[in-house]
Amino acid sequence: MFSQGKVTLIAGPCAIENKDQVMESARAVAEAGIKIFRGGAFKPRTSPYSFQGLGEEGIRLLVDAGKKYRLKTVTEVTEVDVLNAVNEKIDIIQVGARNMDNYSLLKKIGQATSKNKKWVLLKRGFSATIEEFLLAAEYILSSGNPNVVLCERGIRTFETSTRFTLDLNAIPVIKKLSTLPVVVDVSHGTGHADMLIPMSRAAIAAGADGVMIEAHPNPKKALCDGHQSLPTEHLGEWVKECRKIASVLSKPIY
Ligand code: PEP
Ligand code: MN
Repeated sequence: MFSQGKVTLIAGPCAIENKDQVMESARAVAEAGIKIFRGGAFKPRTSPYSFQGLGEEGIRLLVDAGKKYRLKTVTEVTEVDVLNAVNEKIDIIQVGARNMDNYSLLKKIGQATSKNKKWVLLKRGFSATIEEFLLAAEYILSSGNPNVVLCERGIRTFETSTRFTLDLNAIPVIKKLSTLPVVVDVSHGTGHADMLIPMSRAAIAAGADGVMIEAHPNPKKALCDGHQSLPTEHLGEWVKECRKIASVLSKPIY
């Protein structure tokens, strides 16, 4: 699913909201030729009054959509309590930016996945240095799972015109220090749907081994992060643009 030398694409809604939304999103993702489908069931929201996700019901909907459209699935594990349910049913375990330095969670995830060697997509904390990010990955690696994919998702700076500052410098820096694959989450890194295509191109050009975006059939109605979600009708165009840059670098798209 992830390796140096190819570009892995991941798309899907920020949050799983209901059956129709998840099925329609998965259908569009599969139709665009993307193989990995994302969707949050447990949402770590900044405000406790925002939609918190469907929880276990969301996991069931994600699994059904993945089976129906033959997509690999990725979802976030926010706490140890939900780890087993996710580990049994979902293909890739995401650790969110807000949990990058939750070392006990990282250790538990490493231990729980040490047998099945499931991929763990670890997001960079938005105020973490690259060294801290790599050391967080070590918690999983040293617990017995070598399959960690690092996800650059933007850091906090003084700039306010984008949600975060997408640190594409991190890609070549990490490549010097580590052999782990690096994926860039362009949606959280920019906060703007109209930046997804240009910054996906930039991430691939800078050497990313994958790109992740949020996509929604009706972003205006999204319960979470609609402003940074690509309307699913544009997923084909996104894949085409990613493929263009990947082919310049002689990299296949996964
Ligand atoms: C997400 O991927 O929906 C998410 C919450 O991302 P992050 O942890 O990077 O904020
Ligand atoms: Mn989101």
